[in-house]
Parts: sequence; C-alpha cells; structure tokens
Amino acid sequence: MTAFPRRALTLKLLLLMLAGMLAGPVLADEDDAPLKLVATTAMIADVLREIGGERVEVQGLMGPGVDPHLYRQTRHDVTAMTRADAVFWNGLNLEAQLRNFLSRLAERKPVFAVGEAVPVEQRLADEAYPDQPDPHVWMDPGRWLWVVEGIRDALAELAPEHAQEFEARTDAYLAKLEALDGYAAMVLDSVPASSRVLVTAHDAFGYFGDAYEYEVMGIQGFSTESEAGLARIESLVDVLVDRRIGAIFIESSVSDRNVQALVEGAAAEGWTVEIGGELFSDAMGPAATYEGTWLGMFDHNVTLIARALGGEAPTGGRLERLGQEEVSE
Ligand SMILES: [Zn+2]
Repeated sequence: MTAFPRRALTLKLLLLMLAGMLAGPVLADEDDAPLKLVATTAMIADVLREIGGERVEVQGLMGPGVDPHLYRQTRHDVTAMTRADAVFWNGLNLEAQLRNFLSRLAERKPVFAVGEAVPVEQRLADEAYPDQPDPHVWMDPGRWLWVVEGIRDALAELAPEHAQEFEARTDAYLAKLEALDGYAAMVLDSVPASSRVLVTAHDAFGYFGDAYEYEVMGIQGFSTESEAGLARIESLVDVLVDRRIGAIFIESSVSDRNVQALVEGAAAEGWTVEIGGELFSDAMGPAATYEGTWLGMFDHNVTLIARALGGEAPTGGRLERLGQEEVSE
C-alpha cells in the first residue's frame, strides 16, 4: 500500500470520523432497520433471505414436514403477520386455509402472492379445472426464477433505497440456480428413457416433469385436501406392474400411507417396487442445513430421483453437500 503523507492521512481520518458520527444516528434510525417480513413457506423465506440479505428479518411460518395445503394459521402466526412490514405467500391456491385471512390483511399492508409472478401461459392446470393452476412453481428452476425476480421487485418496492443491492444479490443467486438447473438436466438425462417416470404421494412434480421431460403421477392431486380413492390406487398399481416401474417416492410433508399401498398392491401382483427415498415436495429440510435451502432441497430431489431410477449422480449431489449436518457459511 502506498504511504499517504501524514497530513493527508490525518485529514482523511478526520473526515472518516465525521462521516461516522453523521452516519451513526441515521443507521440507528428506524428507517434503516431491517424490514420485518413473514413468509408462509420455507422456499419463499429462503429466497427472501438470499435476496434481502441483512436488509430483512424473515420469519417463515411452515417448518420441515408441514403441508401447506392443510396449514391453518396459529395465534402466534397471526401476531407475526399483523406486526410484519409485509407478508409473502405462494398463492395459486397453495395455502388454501390462509387465503381469507391474507386477503383481509392485504387491505392493511403489502401482501405479495409471489407464485403469481409466473406468467399465466407458463402455469399448468388440470384439464378438468383450467382455472385452478398447479401451485408447485418451486419445482422448476425456469419458473422459480420468475418468483425470485418477483421477490426482488417486491423488496425494491418496500425499500427502494436498497434496490441496487437486491438486484446484485438476485443476479448472484440466479447464477447458482442456473448452474443447479444444468446439473439437474445432466443427471436426470442419465436415467434410461423408459424409466423417466416419477410416482409420488401427490401431484407436486408437474412443473418438474414438464422441465425435464419426466412423466409424473401423483396418488393425490395438486392438493392433499382430497383423499385418493381406491380406484386411483388400483389404476396406479396397474401402471407400476405393466410398465415395470422399479421405484416410487414418499414426500416429507405427506403421509406415506398411499405410497405403501402401491408397493403392497404391486407385490400382490408379483412386481417388486422399491421406495426410492423421501423427496421434498411442499416443505424443505431442517433449518441450518443445505437441504433447508431451496438450492439444497432441489439438489437433494434430483440426485435422489436420478440414482433411484437407474441414472448416475454423485451421492453428495452437485456440491458434495447433501447429508451434512450444518451449513458452513
Ligand atoms: Zn402440494
């Protein structure tokens, strides 16, 4: 480092001290306190933290294993949402039980349905109910990036003075998302074409299947609100047996009862189906683990699916970080 003439250095120090004194009270001012945000799902909470950095203080309502289709707000949640500067939810009919509360809350404070950032023409819907979109938009990086950008724009609206910072953090985050998408395409393509069938507890993987050209079949529909009938179980057993499908998957936020029924039904017809493992569908892994982030959750899913269906993927996933206890960051 070049040495400054002593007098210049002193002057510089003085200016810095003065700037510090001036900045002090402003920093402590409420105007620059972190935004208090509440997110319904852990996927949304994770992206808010990634994009918001130290400008936000995020509380996620739903932890690991919690089913958002059935979730009802607790008294504690109501307090948190009432006190928050803004509330973020997925929308697209995911959090069906919270809808009334959130639409009333939206009359009093900013409430963002971030799933709706996915353009209408990119949303999937059941043919029978075209006005009810598939809410699971976090299952395809290509659609999730709309949500990430929607969150960036929402934060910029709430704190315009930090818009540039949110933009830079978004760009860095989307680069990681894109790299993971490339890894996913590679390992999922290593599965033999005839085995690219994903059978799970409910229809959470429609966007995933659309993105990576996998056929997906859920025992229950888009929502876990309605139970699967016996006829649905029987027809899926026939599919497993006829097409010689070797592995099906349980989900961390849905009971494994129906998946076990498929395994038993196939066994009764002389076909052995393995449980390929537990996927994160509507919830993520524990806080402070890699699987507790969107990137880790997605890495876990694609790695597990590829390996269980006969493809090739490293056990530790894209970054050799799967299955480790704590995030070291
Ligand atoms: Zn779901």
